[in-house]
Amino acid sequence: MKRNLLAASAFVALASLSSAAEAKLRVVTSLQDLASIAQSVGGDRVETFALAKGYQDPHFVDAKPSFVLQLSRADLLIVAGLELEIGYLPPLLDQSRNDKVHSGNPGYLDASIGCDILQRPTAQVTRAMGDVHPFGNPHYWTDPNNGRVIARSIAARLSQLDPAGSAAYQRNLAAFEQRLAQKEAEWMAKMAPFAGTKVVTFHDSWPNFAKHFKLAIVGHVEPKPGIPPTPSHTLDTINLIQAQKVPVILVEPYFDRKTPDYIAGKTGAAVATFYPSVGGTPAIKDYFALFDTDVDAFVAAMKGKK
Ligand SMILES: [Zn+2]
Repeated sequence: MKRNLLAASAFVALASLSSAAEAKLRVVTSLQDLASIAQSVGGDRVETFALAKGYQDPHFVDAKPSFVLQLSRADLLIVAGLELEIGYLPPLLDQSRNDKVHSGNPGYLDASIGCDILQRPTAQVTRAMGDVHPFGNPHYWTDPNNGRVIARSIAARLSQLDPAGSAAYQRNLAAFEQRLAQKEAEWMAKMAPFAGTKVVTFHDSWPNFAKHFKLAIVGHVEPKPGIPPTPSHTLDTINLIQAQKVPVILVEPYFDRKTPDYIAGKTGAAVATFYPSVGGTPAIKDYFALFDTDVDAFVAAMKGKK
């Protein structure tokens, strides 16, 4: 009898140990960038899952059944907002039947809040055909200053959802900010010689990056965000690159290189693959590696021009 009791209490102890190990906050994010920052701030108190992978166009993500399962178990959902996820997330959220992570509840965090958002509409939103940026540019995490804002928002929300972890989240946030400041100085030093350089980009993914690193975006291969290149716009872009002596075209990894390569052939501009997100290649394993990769790619493209 006593043995049974002992065995039973040992079982209870084991069960509570394993539930403590599993008691991590489940954080689902739309982007790997947000997952990376959430993991830095959350440390071992959270587990993260990103719906869109960094090598995919974040506007057009194929919804998988596993996404519904992830959302149904989530304690916190972090989105980029500004309608970046409008094409795939709302039906998944409905199917997840998890009210906790619906907009307006503490388990839902719009990471754009507090960030420097560019191209906010000044007039009424008309959603000109094909424009997938109706409420401002949703690629704002490409400015490290916004990364800092996002990290602070996540730390505050994690502390609210898990007050026992508050001190840990503050410590992790401080470490993230310290590393970011150090890396920012390194990136700025590498980019400084190219301040003012004119660039053309495939999609309008880079206004925040350009603002931070002092590049001048003069055109896009897409006629409008979300609209594939057309022959007449391509001709305009060739003329623009020649007239303005644009040295480099930046292309996100998920777009067809055919048009940028054609433009490059006509103008002599270099084409550089530029990664907007963590996970764009296996080497871009976190938010810091994202800028390491893009800054180095830019410097290499410009050196190749000399
Ligand atoms: Zn976009």
